[in-house]
Order: sequence, then structure tokens, then C-alpha cells
Amino acid sequence: MNDLIENVTNGKRISAEEGLALFKQADVLTLGELANAVRKRIHPDRIVTFIVDRNINYTNICENRCRFCAFYRDASSPEAYLLTKEEIFGKIEETLAQGGTQILMQGGVHPDLGIEYFEDLFSAIKSRFSIQIHSLSPTEIDFLARRSKLSIEDTIRRLKAAGLDSIPGGGAEILADRVREAVSPKKVRWREWAEVMRTAHRLGMPTTATMMFGSIETKEEIVQHLLRIRDIQDESGGFTAFIPWTFQPGNTELGGRAATAVEYLKTLALSRIMLDNVPNIQASWVTQGAKIAQVALEFGANDFGSTMIEENVVAAAGVTFRMTKQDIINIIRDAGYVPAQRDTRYNILAKEDIKPER
Ligand code: SF4
Repeated sequence: MNDLIENVTNGKRISAEEGLALFKQADVLTLGELANAVRKRIHPDRIVTFIVDRNINYTNICENRCRFCAFYRDASSPEAYLLTKEEIFGKIEETLAQGGTQILMQGGVHPDLGIEYFEDLFSAIKSRFSIQIHSLSPTEIDFLARRSKLSIEDTIRRLKAAGLDSIPGGGAEILADRVREAVSPKKVRWREWAEVMRTAHRLGMPTTATMMFGSIETKEEIVQHLLRIRDIQDESGGFTAFIPWTFQPGNTELGGRAATAVEYLKTLALSRIMLDNVPNIQASWVTQGAKIAQVALEFGANDFGSTMIEENVVAAAGVTFRMTKQDIINIIRDAGYVPAQRDTRYNILAKEDIKPER
């Protein structure tokens, strides 16, 4: 273990076996210290970034019916909805009025929405607003490709031409088909998720990567997930950030208990240690709350994610943490870091102008 700790401290890449040994044997503070050392090497400036954006869940109608999801509804449900274009435009106007620079549009897999719907929607948005469209997870893109009988490459090319700027890494859950078959049997398998990401990167489109953990996966599968992200990144270099977050069992078919703070922090730290080629690691205040997210900055995270002017998916599981832009700024400063507003590609938009407010 001492050799392993020394290797990480000296910036050596660690193998799957070594990652697993760290995960199983190192205590939470040791993992935090190592992750912090990696983070300092990659981000020596003590800047913690965040973005002002809004999640727009254009529909909750979904035919995949994942067992961990509290958000989806069947088309026949009285709670089923599909936002109109005008409603989406209204949400974008509110986002821009609050200094927002990005919208994250994700929905259920709606059987009636083909690629033309999104081409039309994205080009209408781009003709009206100056905003980054960071939207459609690999599951949605794969569905559009199959529904429209297109290759993944042609699907992404067409969406890009219509205005799609980047792809969120949602729906990765755990990149192990044993887990996927159990918790989301109708969703893309890990190779298909990876194929969407590789193709996007090849076409010059950045993406993020996520990991939802704390359901039925093993530690080995978490390490395998990190290795798979690292391998894709070695090939294509298109991941801007990695976002580990915890399964929220409320109102889901899967149920069970939520991951503890220690489990979250250890997994976050391991992510920073193993993903030596992914520039940014995001803290998940939406699932952990502001206090644990603040501690996460000492466990490898250098990004606070988004202000999330609107969030519906985690809220559907009964977890509703809320933070304003000013709350995020205060929390980052209070932890001893410099808050900086960024855009989708992690360019800094405002730093010196930000003042704490007590
Ligand atoms: S996680 Fe996504 S794909 Fe699965 S049921 Fe929920 S909305 Fe549908």
C-alpha cells in the first residue's frame, strides 16, 4: 500500500488492480489526500468553476422504464408531459436573464420524437438565442439513430448542424452490462454508450461522462467503469469532465438505501486518482447537498457543476437541494477557493468580478 500511495503522489498512472486495492484498503482521508494531490497537479490555481444553466426536461414520457428512475411516466399517465416550443423558449429566456450560458435538455425516450423534431427545435433555439445547447444523452441519441435508421455518426452530424454543441454523459450509470441489465434493461449497453461518445469526440464535439453509483454495483465494477472512461479518453480526449453521483432510491422501483457521505467521498476521490486524463471532476451538490459538496473540494473535485435553475430528475426521487449562484460563490470561497463562472467548454467567463455576499 505504501508503494501505491507513493506512486499516486508521484503522478504515476495506476492499474485497475491498484485502484481496487486503494478503494478497498485505504481510509477515506488517505484517498482524499491523494485525490487532492492529483487535483493540485492538474489545477494548481485553486480555482473552482461552476456554470449558470438550466436543466430542461422536455418530456417525462419514456418507454425505457429504468428501475432506478423516479422521473419517467407512461404516455397514458395524467402526469405525462411534453413541453411546447414556447414553453422551452420561455425557460431559455429566464435562463439568459439570470446570466445563464447553457441549457441541458434531456428527457425520456419519447417514441414519437424523431430526429426532425430535435433538428427543428435546436435550429429554432439557435436562431433566437445565444446559448450553448448541451443536450441529449447517448441513450437519446442512440434511440434517434435507430428510429430514423441513421448511423450514430450521421445522427450526431445532423444534430450538430442544427445547433447541438455538446453531449452530457448521462445514462452511463455503471458501464458494466451486468448492472445495466438489472437496473435499466432497455437502455443502451456500455459499448453503445461508448460508441456515441467516441463518435462525438471524433466529430469534434465535447462531452461529459458520468457515473451513477450506490445501487447494486460492486467495487470491481466501479473501477472497471473508471478504466473504461480512461481508455476512451486516451483514444479521443473529448471528455471535458467526469461527474460521479449517487443513486437516489426514493420513489423508484429499485429502492434500497442511499450511499453514505463516506462512500460518496471515497468514490469521488478514486475517480480523481484514476482519471488522470480527464481535466475536471465535478462535485454533485444536487445529490449530496452543499455541505458535502464543499468537502468534496478536498477530495478531488475542482468544479461545482451548475446552478441548475431548474432540476426535475433528482427532485422526482424526493431530493431537492437548491442553491443560487451566490450560494455557490459563497460556499466555494468559504472553502478557501476562488469561484469562477465558466462556459460549457470550461472557459472562464468571470472571476475577479465575483464578490462574496454574507
Ligand atoms: S433514466 Fe432516462 S431512459 Fe431511464 S426511465 Fe428515466 S427517463 Fe427513461
